[in-house]
Amino acid sequence: YRFSRRPGAEGRIRVSFEFFPPKTDEMERKLWETVKRLEPLAPAFVSVTYGAGGSTRERTARTIKRILDETSLTPAAHLTCVDADREAVDAVIGEFARMGVSRFVALRGDPAEGVGAKYQPHPNGYANGADLVGALSRQGDFDVSVSAYPEKHPESPDLATDIDMLKRKVDNGAKRAITQFFFDNDVYERYVERARRAGINIPIVPGILPIHNFLQMTRFAAQCGANVPSWLAERFSGLDKDPVTHQLVAAAVAAEQVLDLVERGVEDFHFYTMNRAELPFAISHMIGIRPSTGTADLSSAAA
Ligand code: FAD
Repeated sequence: YRFSRRPGAEGRIRVSFEFFPPKTDEMERKLWETVKRLEPLAPAFVSVTYGAGGSTRERTARTIKRILDETSLTPAAHLTCVDADREAVDAVIGEFARMGVSRFVALRGDPAEGVGAKYQPHPNGYANGADLVGALSRQGDFDVSVSAYPEKHPESPDLATDIDMLKRKVDNGAKRAITQFFFDNDVYERYVERARRAGINIPIVPGILPIHNFLQMTRFAAQCGANVPSWLAERFSGLDKDPVTHQLVAAAVAAEQVLDLVERGVEDFHFYTMNRAELPFAISHMIGIRPSTGTADLSSAAA
């Protein structure tokens, strides 16, 4: 029944891919292989994350520049408010705009001391994601995405506060929200319904995390408040030292989640790629996304 999805939905499905800026030459080589493998899928955009305290600003900018110079892809620059005054953030926005960036993912960010430390806005800085969206809207006609948390942001007292924050982001000009990763599609669907009731009408794009490494994923999940259902742990149990089966199970799990979302009417998907192409490529294939040249380039698949 999983495969009896709505007829014709494939043609309307769009994907986007998220990368992080590489720290070493080897990571850079790997990222570039990934970008080249995913490029023919013609994603709506590819986004590049921004590190705590602006520590990766240069690396984010360098990665975005390479995407602009060497690919046909549309990059979106993530940007945070951490440890920077308004002037500094505005200067970064200006720098990106001069490079030709027209899309941003606007975030508050986490304290430089790490997730869990109390967030203190810079005294002359933007206080949160909504404030940063306002700054972007004042500086240009940008396409701005923001975060959303179907399972609530860990610092938020309740879901209503979180939805209020999302509403403020929309009022300040956000065009779409991308969710934190989740594994229970009912939770996502309830969140979207609640946002709609609050008058939020922008797309709320599910952020899909293909599980390249189950143990690492559980650490991320604990930090960002994403629930790891016991059935999911059960599927990966015993596979720590069996990468081939782990990969096959990961593809099956993500395909199942994404196909179920397609059945529920979702047409946009954002993939947290972890700079790896295999799972996002396979899952995109499952939902009807094919290389725009018509045939898969198997030579790059083998590289
Ligand atoms: P906001 O939406 O501004 O705030 C999060 C929640 O905290 C709000 O919903 C609200 O309920 C609560 N809150 C905030 N301020 C207040 C207040 N004054 N009073 C009461 N409640 C408040 N991090 C990075 O460092 N770099 C990245 O590139 C990056 N990319 C991301 C991309 C996506 C799609 C997502 C979902 C997250 C990303 N993150 C990134 C992580 C993000 O920075 C953290 O989740 C951070 O803790 C919150 O940032 P935010 O913009 O979502 O915060």
